[in-house]
Amino acid sequence: MIWDTHAHLDDERYRRDFAEVLARAKGSGISRILNPGYDLESSRRAVALAREYPFIWAAVGIHPHDAGGAGQATWDELVSLAQEEKVVAWGEIGLDYYRDLSPRFVQQQAFVNQIELANAAGLPIIIHNRDAHQDILRLLKQHRPEHGCVFHVYSGSWEMAKELLNLGFYLSFGGPLTYKNARQTLEVAQGVPMDRFMVETDSPYLTPEPYRSQRNEPARVVEVVKRLAEIKGLEVPEVARLALENGEALFGKACAAG
Ligand SMILES: [Zn+2]
Repeated sequence: MIWDTHAHLDDERYRRDFAEVLARAKGSGISRILNPGYDLESSRRAVALAREYPFIWAAVGIHPHDAGGAGQATWDELVSLAQEEKVVAWGEIGLDYYRDLSPRFVQQQAFVNQIELANAAGLPIIIHNRDAHQDILRLLKQHRPEHGCVFHVYSGSWEMAKELLNLGFYLSFGGPLTYKNARQTLEVAQGVPMDRFMVETDSPYLTPEPYRSQRNEPARVVEVVKRLAEIKGLEVPEVARLALENGEALFGKACAAG
């Protein structure tokens, strides 16, 4: 029973062999998948997948890369998508100063706007953060997510992690935890409390070792769970159970609906 809490199954790279990808996930013990949106189109696709498959759940939101193109019509449609039964979070949203595909002030506006929309919708948020640690922390303190928050594939320092944990947030681990140069992430994984971590793939990106050159898919979340179990000194099923329970604590709607 493993929950891949972040997989872009709506990506066109799965169109050709979608059924096989799901079969391999089921065969590897993945019982739930959360598909976040990154723009309006992908949010619509995530909701459509969640409607069709009982074990798929959705989040809706505009990624910082696409923040520039979002106008009122986009926000209105996201608000209505967010009311769907199987939408359990708002995301992925945040700041990306590594690629800077939208101007920084536009990214910040879209981020704050979506925290407010998530609060109004009663949903937790899923955060994408790349090289924007100080600004994201400042904005989160000024505009609190009222229904919780997870940093997906958390890549910051243990110092920042402690601040996030103090705010009650969750940290999610993905493929990079299995990489040899993951010193900082390793330190975070060692320190994170048992009731605050989740696991994910971020498929089709960030494939874990030893499959790193291939397209990622939800079945590979097993590698992340194995690595986390090693680091925590726990059995693999125990880590899977904790990660699932932590996911349920944050994305409560999914839990209530079975
Ligand atoms: Zn993602």
